[in-house]
Amino acid sequence: MPDTEMRVGDAAAVLGIAAHVLRHWEDVGLLRPPRLPSGHRVYDGQTLAQARMIQICQRAGLSLAEVRELAAAERADRLEIIAAKRASIAEQVADLELADRFLSHVVTCAHPVVSDCNECSGLVARARPSSLSRARPS
Ligand SMILES: [Zn+2]
Repeated sequence: MPDTEMRVGDAAAVLGIAAHVLRHWEDVGLLRPPRLPSGHRVYDGQTLAQARMIQICQRAGLSLAEVRELAAAERADRLEIIAAKRASIAEQVADLELADRFLSHVVTCAHPVVSDCNECSGLVARARPSSLSRARPS
């Protein structure tokens, strides 16, 4: 095997996941590692790149079903799915930045109650309501 081709255990280690996760991704049609004549899977550069794309999508909050939907979609549908996911990511980034600012302030805030502090009150007022639609099953 060339250096860029690995067995499932080594590929899993490189990706920081369990081997059964790679097999599951293959079972659900997201990965198609080539097979050696012996039947063993070979994780080549292309397969590893696809696995990393799945990891990026999962870290962005996509379920495996959504990743599969994205991979199978026609271009126009794919662009629509991507636009919706990017809007969701932008909301999450804003939420995280607000939470970070709030936590950063709280470290030095001398007020015992949020409503006593203008900065705490201002940050809390910027929080948007939670959305039930963001809690999608994976
Ligand atoms: Zn404060």
